[in-house]
Amino acid sequence: MMDSFTFPGLTTRVVFGSGTMARAEEEVRRLGHDKAMVLSTEHQKEDAETLAASLGDLAAGTFSGAVMHTPVEITEKAVESFRASGATAVVSLGGGSTVGLGKAIALRTGADQVVIPTTYAGSEMTDILGETSAGEKTTRRSPDIRPETVIYDVDLTLGLPVALTVTSAMNAIAHAMEALYAPDRNPVTVLMCKDAMAAFREAIPRLIDDPRNRTARAQALYGAWCCSTALGHSSMALHHKLAHVFGGSFDTPHAETHAILLPYTTAFNEAAVPDLLRPIAEAFGGRSAGGAIWDFAQSVGSPLSLRDIGIQETDLDRAAAIAVKNAYANPRPIDLESIRELLQAAWEARRPGDE
Ligand code: NAD
Repeated sequence: MMDSFTFPGLTTRVVFGSGTMARAEEEVRRLGHDKAMVLSTEHQKEDAETLAASLGDLAAGTFSGAVMHTPVEITEKAVESFRASGATAVVSLGGGSTVGLGKAIALRTGADQVVIPTTYAGSEMTDILGETSAGEKTTRRSPDIRPETVIYDVDLTLGLPVALTVTSAMNAIAHAMEALYAPDRNPVTVLMCKDAMAAFREAIPRLIDDPRNRTARAQALYGAWCCSTALGHSSMALHHKLAHVFGGSFDTPHAETHAILLPYTTAFNEAAVPDLLRPIAEAFGGRSAGGAIWDFAQSVGSPLSLRDIGIQETDLDRAAAIAVKNAYANPRPIDLESIRELLQAAWEARRPGDE
């Protein structure tokens, strides 16, 4: 029970199921639009073209140039082609990179967004946009960024490669971990975090053996929705800050960076708020949250060391210095020495907890 809380309500409409991509036309029209541009990465270009073809008269072309971290130069090109096409809405088909591009277009043009996520990264339910310009990443939150409609189609995740399935799930769990202790947490997001962890705990080992298992895929995508909702309605702290430091200053891959850091940031904050993080130990089975999530990561083959993404031991001092440069809220006070020690453990893949 929480003594007091504010529940902001959920504004994004969600359609969840199998074969739901076929509802894209109906959902765009429901928002009052008759021209929509389909967005994707180069890798998912063919899928975007198939989707555009299925939209018939509604389709105003595709833009398949989405890349990681939403560079402003790409957004400018996309906005130009969006305006030239006469579209008033975007349909973003893909992972966080494509969803980010849709958000960036929406912010500049007032377009409505229908998002069809194909990873578990969880950008679709949030009001957060991270953009890069001249090598610097800035993040902002605004109600204008949050997508109007999200269509979760389990079928689109059947072919998600196993390695990305695992790290993307860990990325989602990281949102849940920080939402559990967020100062603006509420009973709805906390329940969703707990349910998501139970769903991933069950689904990920099954997907390693059988990646096209529709029931396990549905369970994992449900978990992703829960984690994205929690991320979109809570403030984030140390874990997301560190992931941002490595992604922004060392150009490390997004999902793997989150996956690697998660057990160590969990253990770090568990020392300050053990009760709030107990649901992690309960979900993954262990005496400590940090130890339980480390064991789970190891059991599903998730990377556990910063070495796995090319970080040298000599990089750790600089990373720690960047991480403590600006103050931000975190349940446990942050200082250079303790963050440097956390990063050393993450570099050595040292299991947290004493069980
Ligand atoms: P991504 O979108 O870059 O996708 C990784 C690769 O996998 C791409 O080539 C993509 O086309 C491909 N892919 C996606 N789905 C696939 C599928 N089902 N089958 C086969 N290939 C598939 O990676 P991501 O991890 O989803 O997103 C990372 C980005 O999202 C980062 O830029 C991150 O900052 C952002 N993000 C933002 C928020 C937010 O709230 N603003 C939240 C989470 C992530």
